[in-house]
Amino acid sequence: MAARRLSAIVAGGGIGGIATAIALARRGVSVRVCERRAEFPEEGAGIQIGPNGVRILQELGVAEFLADKAANPDALVVHDGASGHELTRLPLGNWIAGRHGAPYWTAHRQDLHQALRACAERVPGVTLSRGSEIVSLSNVADGVTSIDANGETLDASLLVAADGLWSTLRAQISGEAEPLRPTGKIAFRSVTEARSLPSALERNAVHIWLSPRAHAVHYPVNGGRDIALVIISDSSHSDEGWDAPAVAETVKDIVKSFTTPLRTLVESAAQWRQWSLYSMAPLGRWTSGHAVLLGDAAHPMLPFLAQGAVMALEDATTLAACIGKNGDVADALRCFERHRRARVSKVVERSLRNGRIYHMQGPAAFARNVAMRLQSPERIMTGFDWLYGWRLPAC
Ligand SMILES: Cc1cc2nc3c(=O)[nH]c(=O)nc-3n(C[C@H](O)[C@H](O)[C@H](O)COP(=O)(O)OP(=O)(O)OC[C@H]3O[C@@H](n4cnc5c(N)ncnc54)[C@H](O)[C@@H]3O)c2cc1C
Repeated sequence: MAARRLSAIVAGGGIGGIATAIALARRGVSVRVCERRAEFPEEGAGIQIGPNGVRILQELGVAEFLADKAANPDALVVHDGASGHELTRLPLGNWIAGRHGAPYWTAHRQDLHQALRACAERVPGVTLSRGSEIVSLSNVADGVTSIDANGETLDASLLVAADGLWSTLRAQISGEAEPLRPTGKIAFRSVTEARSLPSALERNAVHIWLSPRAHAVHYPVNGGRDIALVIISDSSHSDEGWDAPAVAETVKDIVKSFTTPLRTLVESAAQWRQWSLYSMAPLGRWTSGHAVLLGDAAHPMLPFLAQGAVMALEDATTLAACIGKNGDVADALRCFERHRRARVSKVVERSLRNGRIYHMQGPAAFARNVAMRLQSPERIMTGFDWLYGWRLPAC
């Protein structure tokens, strides 16, 4: 009941920020989302949303706005990049939906973002503001006062900093200025038409191609009409700001040792963008009084498990549950941090490990390939039950 009298400012209108606004508003909190950009972000290409994420989209009422644009792949097919040989075919489709009660979706990131906004616009109590960058915040009696770059003062019962990897509010809330460290890896992303997919490749599947120091992933988006492509490779070059145009020739050069179908698909993509990948040591704390970090701002992670945005969705629903259950906001934020820390640390660590496995070379890569071929695909997938079977903890 206490939540009904609360108000929140959410700094950042990305996936985590808008999902948080919906989740809080559904529990009676009135929320203003402040997005620093003049338009809501639509960069990126594809996004994989595991059952743990789709279940939250269903519960928040977002899934119905995305369903006809998402794809529901039947399998995740892992190939040796050089030979093209199939190493394993992991079941998705009905198998994973039956196991975890929600499907595994792939979508254009823009479509996910639009679905979140369409839902937020219909939920009473949510206001979406653009061109509003939160630059500072201070805890006051019973709330937080924040100031945006236009000089406007905003008072609320709590502030959620969902301002992403390059968060400027992180240091103010955690009290530390943990540096982002370049990982020496770079991601290239593009979207191409599904008709460019070589006929040898199964259409409704996520494909992963492994090669020493690089891998490629592609999957259907836009209801299967397009294919999202991601290539991640070692790189000595790091850009700050993380999203920049890329030169198609650079991407073609990276995949030159890959098998023909993958190269053909890469050549069909006209425009590429690149993201230098960064990591950060875990923060000592995510909360300060009535202010809290969420999503990439709290826990940046590498994309090798395709779970960064899904973790932001889990954060959103957990935070709202903690606020709904605790009369005191500061207690609720500490409860949120307690529930999320171990979970997120495990996902961060497994993402890192996946990256090492994907980019193995020499005898290690050979052993990996043999192990993938020998293990039953269902057994490999049940090893991810801890990830995809997540449920909201009791606060
Ligand atoms: C190559 C690659 C592939 C990926 N693939 C997947 C995938 O398949 N599945 C998955 O789940 N995740 C994936 N991710 C991770 C995912 O993109 C991120 O984890 C996710 O976007 C984090 O969401 P967020 O809301 O925390 O931050 P962001 O999406 O970065 O949003 C932050 C928002 O805050 C705004 N902002 C910044 N500062 C301020 C301020 N001071 N005031 C107001 N607004 C501000 C920004 O403009 C931005 O709109 C991938 C990442 C990469 C790099």
